[in-house]
Amino acid sequence: MAVSIQELTSGNRRALSKAITLIESTRGEDRQPAQHLLQAAMPHTGKSWRIGVSGVPGVGKSTFIESLGMLLIARGHKVAVLAVDPSSPFSGGSILGDKTRMEKLVAQPDAFIRPSPTAGSLGGVTQRTRESILLCEAAGFDVILVETVGVGQSEYDVASMTDLFLLLMLPGAGDALQGIKRGILELADVLVVNKCDGDNRDRAEAARSEIRQGLHYLRPQDDKAPADVLLCSSLTNEGVEAVWDEVSTRLEALAQSKRLESNRRKQNLNWVKSLIEQQVLHRFWNDGNVQADYMKMISELRSGAVTPIQAVEQLLENVHLVR
Ligand code: GDP
Repeated sequence: MAVSIQELTSGNRRALSKAITLIESTRGEDRQPAQHLLQAAMPHTGKSWRIGVSGVPGVGKSTFIESLGMLLIARGHKVAVLAVDPSSPFSGGSILGDKTRMEKLVAQPDAFIRPSPTAGSLGGVTQRTRESILLCEAAGFDVILVETVGVGQSEYDVASMTDLFLLLMLPGAGDALQGIKRGILELADVLVVNKCDGDNRDRAEAARSEIRQGLHYLRPQDDKAPADVLLCSSLTNEGVEAVWDEVSTRLEALAQSKRLESNRRKQNLNWVKSLIEQQVLHRFWNDGNVQADYMKMISELRSGAVTPIQAVEQLLENVHLVR
């Protein structure tokens, strides 16, 4: 499954597809070529806007991304869409991946759409997505949309790998309250009430007021401009251009103030930390000593011979996490 860096940087979509399949591969023999390719790609990365897009299932994420993607391509951008789907590793099902989505966008030579990787844990999936962002950048894509659903940890993961987080919301009451409860409203830089068309217009306005009220109670993060609430219809495209104006103005401002750079540096550092945590845990559970001692420890714990803290200390005593 060899992919050359020349093929990748020439913008060949097939090469990009193959490159992502390579880094997603769980086969031992693919690990080294995948890391070599990523390393070769590094000098060609960093020159895109990385945008997270989230919202509950049915809010219109695919429809919105297709509408925005078509607009961006008409303006000369190259658009990549990656998905982080927390349903896949646990249930084997997929919230984002299995329907036919974004048919118009898929057909565009300047678009690249990649469904969520399905293997491994959610942590593994998000790591693959971080690497996929870099590969898309090396292939010349300058707007990267990372889509996820409002489930579990995935929104935080996506916010931790993007420059701006856009939350789509439903018209009518209720969605804002849920968003506040789950802390998701605080994560968003731009809030968009979708489906503002036909009979929904009044309900969209009501949602906007509710969201604004909700935002009023939240303490805006110090280093963020307060989120704005926009209305759009992804079905008629009305308002989608204004959403992009807001998004791009914010991104330009971030870049000019050098906060884009410092945010990405922080994100990279956090990525390194989480990789260390993952690898240390992996080594711990795969250590021969742990495997032998673990069962013994459980029975000692049951009989009350040791406390949980003592048990952990004993387990760690014989483990060599650094090789
Ligand atoms: P996702 O699950 O968030 O990706 O949502 P989809 O994009 O699949 O949309 C769910 C449903 O809402 C579909 O039937 C869409 O046609 C519909 N939908 C999406 N955007 C709009 C919109 O702006 N207006 C209206 N009226 N319907 C929409």
